[in-house]
Amino acid sequence: MLIDGHGRKVDYLRVSVTERCNFRCQYCMPDKPFSWKPKENLLSFEELFLFIKAAMDEGITKVRITGGEPLLREDLDKFVAMIYNHNPAVDLALTTNGYLLKQTAQKLKDAGLKRLNISLDSLKPQVAKEIAQKEVLGSVLEGIEESLRVGLGVKINMVPLKGVNEDEIVDLLDFAKERGIEIRFIEYMENAMANHQIKGLLGKEILEKIKEKYRIEKIGRQGSSPSFAYKLEDGYRFGLIDPHKHDFCESCNRIRLTAEGFLIPCLYFDEAMSIKDAVQKGDIEAAVEVLRQVLRDKPEKNRWNEDENELSNRAFYETGG
Ligand code: SAM
Ligand code: SF4
Repeated sequence: MLIDGHGRKVDYLRVSVTERCNFRCQYCMPDKPFSWKPKENLLSFEELFLFIKAAMDEGITKVRITGGEPLLREDLDKFVAMIYNHNPAVDLALTTNGYLLKQTAQKLKDAGLKRLNISLDSLKPQVAKEIAQKEVLGSVLEGIEESLRVGLGVKINMVPLKGVNEDEIVDLLDFAKERGIEIRFIEYMENAMANHQIKGLLGKEILEKIKEKYRIEKIGRQGSSPSFAYKLEDGYRFGLIDPHKHDFCESCNRIRLTAEGFLIPCLYFDEAMSIKDAVQKGDIEAAVEVLRQVLRDKPEKNRWNEDENELSNRAFYETGG
């Protein structure tokens, strides 16, 4: 079992397989093109897997593949199969913008993927284009339908932004509800890479919008999920991810691995340690020692609820969100 320096059990590893993306979301990486890190810097799937395998043997039971846009990395289904074949009981999920899912959902499902979180910020083509800086809505919707068709578990992620898509919170909730899938509203997390003009809605503002149409009941945090659950009168459940809230970090159970081999203890802070040398030498013990060190150093809390002017330098496209 893996326990961090604050006594929290850590059983969840998020793995970013690339920082590259085919979107340029305003809240994530609005100002590219820029120089991507050279492809040679990336760990191969075999190297990433060496670490993931060791981490699963130490107590990781949930692995999420993310990015950048993870579906841009060739043969991602083979990587999924490596993890699944090592331990078919692992809770194996993927976070994606959905653009390439129409072509890949079946292969991912066949490889052992169980669940997908798909980002969907608007149902209006023009607004989706404004956020992602590309015409994306049609392909994303096709990707969602295809994922449901092949039997993958699907959740929708939405980041509500003031004056941009805040009027669609209820529409997106209804979109998910009609399909019997969960939607999770994520508070915009201010960071140095994002468009500084944008402002997100706080959790309570998101709930106010939903209350204009529905009566809602508070359920609570589900285990160590970052998402706080709510229920409508008809029993439909949705989630709210509210890192600005004071109690958000109490049950944090996760660490992050970047495509270049940095292990990151907290999404907010710059701290990271590399497992690259260890996995490239095939030295599993050294990689596990880095994992233990990162857990010892894991901060108690993020700082999104503190000083608005002090931005996190962490790029979401590197850490995978
Ligand atoms: N490209 C994939 C996608 O968009 O789903 C995976 C990577 S993305 C970094 C993972 C998640 O982080 C997405 O749900 C995205 O909406 C969210 N995200 C990115 N930047 C964010 C920010 N500044 N605040 C809150 N959520 C953010
Ligand atoms: Fe790409 Fe996802 Fe970042 Fe949007 S949030 S730019 S889709 S990595």
